[in-house]
Amino acid sequence: MIINSIQAAIGHTPLLRFTHHDFPEIPEGSAVYAKLEYLNPGGSIKDRLGVYLINEGLTSGRITRETTIIEPTAGNTGIGIALAALAVGLPTIFVVPEKFSLEKQALMQALGAKIIHTPTEAGITGAIAKARELQEELPDSYLPLQFENPANPQAYYQSLAPEITADVGAEITSFVAGIGSGGTFSGVASYLLERNTAVRLIGVEPEGSILNGGSSHSHEIEGIGVEFMPTFLEGLPITKYATISDSEGFAMTKRLAKEHGLLVGSSSGAAMQAALAEVAQLPAGSQVVTIFPDGGERYLSKNIYSREDY
Ligand code: PMP
Repeated sequence: MIINSIQAAIGHTPLLRFTHHDFPEIPEGSAVYAKLEYLNPGGSIKDRLGVYLINEGLTSGRITRETTIIEPTAGNTGIGIALAALAVGLPTIFVVPEKFSLEKQALMQALGAKIIHTPTEAGITGAIAKARELQEELPDSYLPLQFENPANPQAYYQSLAPEITADVGAEITSFVAGIGSGGTFSGVASYLLERNTAVRLIGVEPEGSILNGGSSHSHEIEGIGVEFMPTFLEGLPITKYATISDSEGFAMTKRLAKEHGLLVGSSSGAAMQAALAEVAQLPAGSQVVTIFPDGGERYLSKNIYSREDY
């Protein structure tokens, strides 16, 4: 396959099917499908958002050739935006809470981005406030703001969701996915609902996220978990939220690597844990789709595969 830019390699990731053979938790005749988003060139599902946001901004006129892009991000969205911005020569500044992995920050910088840190305790809310401040100060800057911008779910509605139904068909029993901004979940869920109103929608969060009513506190699983209810979830008939502990999430992440050769990040482990719990209580013949959003190499400094406590 010859391509003319690395951005052309974004999307069309493989969908890996697991059966009873692979995981005894999956009833015979049922399947769990995992969309391998870590195989995108920037290493995560957020490459799709980066390209979509930059194209949408250029088309709508919100972005010109002089614009600086500013965004608060845990890292993967920054990498996705930086990759897309690079193709059109736009500078990028990302506001990142200190706790997030150093590798993600190094990758954003490798793609030419400038990073501004906010304190871990201020959470993503602190990063959003700082990004808004920067945007006010900097003439001709654009803040896509993934947490509010309808282009976020749209990116997944238009690229990820059709790929899934093209491979599995409309007969998807359940869609199980982690929620950070909620863009991935909402975009794919909306698309699936238009084809099958009975599809079960399971949102995945780490302990320390508030979707199941728990109190907000820090957690080690990276990329998912919210401090406030994402606007994108409003109006969606969500079946339930699965709250996964750090130890369950990391144990599954290690198992995916060791038993299946899948070098994925901890939000993938959490999603798989929830997908297995879901398929285990469904009738034989059910099809559960989940997402593996990024890879594990960007968390090696956090000992993702070698922590003894999980
Ligand atoms: N997993 C990882 C590793 C991520 O970086 C993100 C995005 N923060 C997600 C899951 C969740 O995606 P979304 O923001 O679309 O809910």
